[in-house]
Amino acid sequence: MPADVLHRLIYASRQHVETRDLDVHVERILQVSQRNNARDGLTGLLLVHDGWFVQALEGPEVAVQRAYGRIICDRRHYDASMVAGDTVVTRAFPSWSMTARRLPARAGRRLGFDPTRLDGEAALSLLLASLAEGDQLAA
Ligand code: FAD
Repeated sequence: MPADVLHRLIYASRQHVETRDLDVHVERILQVSQRNNARDGLTGLLLVHDGWFVQALEGPEVAVQRAYGRIICDRRHYDASMVAGDTVVTRAFPSWSMTARRLPARAGRRLGFDPTRLDGEAALSLLLASLAEGDQLAA
């Protein structure tokens, strides 16, 4: 596949860190992600909510798969499940090598946050809503 073909992968996973340490872990994850993703031409968003991570990674397919291969081995989360893996025309999150959002509890309820029931379209809508309504975490 040509390197300029864009791919978007979205997965959901369960957090495996103490709640009190979560923000510190997210800050470290973002620091490493921003460095690696900028190097590899990746952009995306990490939603941190209610014991779950939901993350979109966008960029050249090989780079997306390589990053996902590292991420799923990370013991700060478990049970990663891919909900979308598609060729796309444009990036939905072009402005960030990686950024993180947390949804206010009320917004999570209104949006029907339930990563066990996400398909690709619903996952993308959720992530876009979290950009508009979520609180930015760390860098
Ligand atoms: P290094 O430069 O060695 O960086 C690894 C850093 O992560 C070190 O500071 C190390 O101490 C720390 N670290 C690794 N594992 C743990 C752990 N279990 N507990 C505490 N600290 C730890 N990486 C990306 O490149 N792009 C992403 O978009 C991305 N998203 C992530 C999303 C989530 C939800 C999680 C949990 C991790 C994500 N990561 C991402 C991190 C990824 O899992 C790897 O840790 C990272 O890619 C390794 O980068 P590196 O090879 O450059 O290693």
